[in-house]
Amino acid sequence: MKTAPRAPLMSRESAAALDAEDRLAPFRNRFLIPDPHLVYLDGNSLGRLPRATVERLEHVTRHEWGERLIRSWDEGWLELPEEVGDLIGQSMLGAAPGQVIVADSTTVCLYKLASAGLDARPDRNEVVTDVDNFPTDRYVLEGLAAQRGLTLRWIEGEVGPGALAQVVGPRTALVALSHVSYRTAAIADMEATTRLAHDAGALVLWDLCHSVGALPVELDAAGVDLAAGCTYKYLNGGPGAPAFLYVRAEHQKALRQPIWGWLGREDMFGMAFGYQRAGGVRSMLSGTPNVLGLVGVQEGARLVAEAGIDAIRAKGILLTELAVDLFDAVLAQRGMELASPREAARRGAHVTVRHPDAARLCRELAAQGVITDFRPPDLIRLGLSPLTTRFVDVWDGIERLRELL
Ligand SMILES: *Cc1c(COP(=O)(O)O)cnc(C)c1O
Repeated sequence: MKTAPRAPLMSRESAAALDAEDRLAPFRNRFLIPDPHLVYLDGNSLGRLPRATVERLEHVTRHEWGERLIRSWDEGWLELPEEVGDLIGQSMLGAAPGQVIVADSTTVCLYKLASAGLDARPDRNEVVTDVDNFPTDRYVLEGLAAQRGLTLRWIEGEVGPGALAQVVGPRTALVALSHVSYRTAAIADMEATTRLAHDAGALVLWDLCHSVGALPVELDAAGVDLAAGCTYKYLNGGPGAPAFLYVRAEHQKALRQPIWGWLGREDMFGMAFGYQRAGGVRSMLSGTPNVLGLVGVQEGARLVAEAGIDAIRAKGILLTELAVDLFDAVLAQRGMELASPREAARRGAHVTVRHPDAARLCRELAAQGVITDFRPPDLIRLGLSPLTTRFVDVWDGIERLRELL
């Protein structure tokens, strides 16, 4: 029996009909959207502002900071890094409590984790990553390799167990990869890749920046050692909001991060001589937490938890399917190429198209109120953050792109 092809969606009305059926549609009203005509296809770079965050920041600044002053540290602020970490871990990362903490930036978290992982494999001198990994990930690893005299081994092509098998070996200390490619949205097979690295005796560090809040991740079940990610993309935590990191419970006793600060010390207020690591994931902290950033992360993560990561993933698939269908219908014959996987199960929540004039197209789209991302040399990324993107936004964005072409 032949399966019927998906009905082509050739009108804006049919996109509007998908919005009418969308169970997550009401979540868009939980965000501040002052310009309803803006087609924002960039929630994967900077997520929108939750209304709850506006109120929370008002409360935290006026009451907790303004009135309660330093007393607020004991009235909840000090627990925020672990509390928000557990919320993220349990509701979207498949991580049991006590393994995720919110701190620093993704860049700094990657440095701390990679450094701790390398220290745990002192007899090995190679690090694996991929040539298309996000720049900061590559640079952090380059820096560590330069400091320690390690060799970087580069995966070329799609990240997964097949590609890893070419470069991993008995000298590999650490494998550091992105779960969802920031360029193409390709999803790496986390479980099989992690298993292969473990078979070679290496530790694995996953970057979850384009996964967290967009699709369910199963860190505990996949046997992942270390992970980190941003909170200002699909988590809508706010510009520069602190990142999160994950350290698998069984590694917490052995792994030591490199920035020993008082917040990561046992009995920090004892102010004693000599550094003694705090127990658990708290030892990953270094200095005073960014409270204003943390409460934004908490509000953003609460929205994702309330909507449910499985429902978010299901809508993300429908949004990217629509984008791919429209790409086939109107962009493919105009000199564009699809850079993202065709198969929905292998694709995160953005769709990337390739065109020699991508930079100019991106600027012209922005001038017409369609915000996308240009990624050099020739990629345009359409980020379809499921809590705030409507099906008609996908339609409108691609329609303007068609007109420009
Ligand atoms: C956005 C992003 C980062 C950003 O790191 P910062 O320290 O927040 O600047 C890192 N890695 C990946 C894969 C990203 O997509």
